[in-house]
Amino acid sequence: MQFRAVKGMNDILPNEVGRWHRLEGEFRSLVALYGYQEVRTPLLEHTDLFARSIGETTDVVEKEMFTFERSRESLTLRPEGTAGAARAYVAHKQHGREPVSRWYYLGPMFRAEQPQRGRYRQFHQAGCEVFGDRGPLVDAEMIDMLCTYLRRLGISGIEVSVNSIGGAGAREAYRERLLDFLRPRAGSLSPHARDRLEVNPLRVLDSKDERDQAAARDAPSILEVLEDEDRAHWEGLCASLDVLGIAYTVDPRLVRGLDYYTGTLFELNATSGDLGAQNTLVGGGRYDSMIETLGGPSVSAIGFAMGLERILLAMPDDTPASVPRCYVAPIGAPAQHASLLLARELRAAGVTVDLDGRGNSLRSMLRRADAIGARLCLVLGDSELEAGIVQVKDLGQHTQDRVDRGQVVDRVARLVATGSRQIATQPSGDEP
Ligand code: AMP
Repeated sequence: MQFRAVKGMNDILPNEVGRWHRLEGEFRSLVALYGYQEVRTPLLEHTDLFARSIGETTDVVEKEMFTFERSRESLTLRPEGTAGAARAYVAHKQHGREPVSRWYYLGPMFRAEQPQRGRYRQFHQAGCEVFGDRGPLVDAEMIDMLCTYLRRLGISGIEVSVNSIGGAGAREAYRERLLDFLRPRAGSLSPHARDRLEVNPLRVLDSKDERDQAAARDAPSILEVLEDEDRAHWEGLCASLDVLGIAYTVDPRLVRGLDYYTGTLFELNATSGDLGAQNTLVGGGRYDSMIETLGGPSVSAIGFAMGLERILLAMPDDTPASVPRCYVAPIGAPAQHASLLLARELRAAGVTVDLDGRGNSLRSMLRRADAIGARLCLVLGDSELEAGIVQVKDLGQHTQDRVDRGQVVDRVARLVATGSRQIATQPSGDEP
């Protein structure tokens, strides 16, 4: 019997993982320049944490969480990273240690959504959170950092959308306005939006259902009801984005699917690559009341999460160049043992070595060395052992040389340092 991976959950195979390393590496090195430090929180949290922070009436909490009981506790695989980071921030009294904390995370998230291109049940997010800075400079800086990141990966056609949903006062006032607008149109809403209209009218703006989108088309803008403080923050954000030369669209419909947001909201979309309908790469915003909701002090916060599978779909497919490799091809048992020692010495000198221990013919070993794009192939048989030499074949230059065993490590280390051949992405078959 063969097993398949769980629906919506994917294996990342070694021939794909180079691109993952690239986008993760770029992320880590860029956010470090802004002073972010990594936080690693558990994949499992108490279900209540998500219900409390993300919101009971959100799609994520209502229908997408992987939840189970264990020892009479309800546990959930994290559907996003902010709730866990905020919980850790409160639990470890981080606010008492430093006025501003800049954290980042990277890892798998779980949502029981209908899988499709760019939407999976296990997916990966990288995200940043800043605790203790009210903005708006940090809000703009975060958006700027994201644009830099996407550009560094070769992603083009980046579109930035921003909005503000203000503080509690503005949202309450807006809720009433929106309800006044939507109630007469309730009949044309999707059944799901209609059911939740009175509880959470903002969700209608966020709905992907065409009926809801049509009903909300001329809805009033939340920007109209911002209070003075919200407005000052919003104008500060727009001014900072202008200073940074970032083109952005103000989208008053942008409310995003999680309830914890306050004030600034943003999304980054891209038109490049192979994204299809799921072209939102990054979503983020302020959540100034979450730390207090989770039992901490009043600490403002802003963060974003970026879907790494979608970044991969948007990235150009330029397979990163591999390090130059050296193939060691021993012929016969004594040479195999001698090769174990030679390979160990080469690796100690920093050379990437593939030792072929399968006992195949020289011809087949050379073919294999060529297929993986090795820069050099070192051939070692009885006669080489007897003469105290190694045959060094340069597969790029099509030359070969007999090198004294005592000098071969130095020589090879110098040769591989001078560059690699193009590595085939699909190594050809494992011929006998
Ligand atoms: P959210 O946490 O819902 O605000 O989503 C932030 C980003 O995570 C989105 O813009 C996507 O790039 C990514 N994302 C969210 N859900 C999924 C999913 N089910 N599969 C793949 N990526 C996702």
